[in-house]
Amino acid sequence: MKPQKLTIANGRRILTDYDSRQKEYQDYNKSRWKYNKEVIQFYNSPIWRKTSKMVLLENDYVCAVCGGEATMTDHVVSIKKDWSKRLDRDNLQPICKACNDAKGSWR
Ligand SMILES: [Zn+2]
Repeated sequence: MKPQKLTIANGRRILTDYDSRQKEYQDYNKSRWKYNKEVIQFYNSPIWRKTSKMVLLENDYVCAVCGGEATMTDHVVSIKKDWSKRLDRDNLQPICKACNDAKGSWR
């Protein structure tokens, strides 16, 4: 027997099967949390620090978007969209904080 719970439907209290969608939602949250943890670990990893520093040095700390002073390295294709491109040099560009913040709102 499936676990059941009490819910209100059309003003009446009824027993229904424990909502399987809730389970899916929990699984989704779990995987999202895991993903975020991976992202944080990636940004703190020595390989990322080294790679992003190289991108900045090679481009003389010039922001690829506005030509100002870049302070960080940006993923052209967000790693949330393509995790495999996180260390792909063709996917990396120097960027300043202002441009990165602006980009954050539309990507
Ligand atoms: Zn910029």
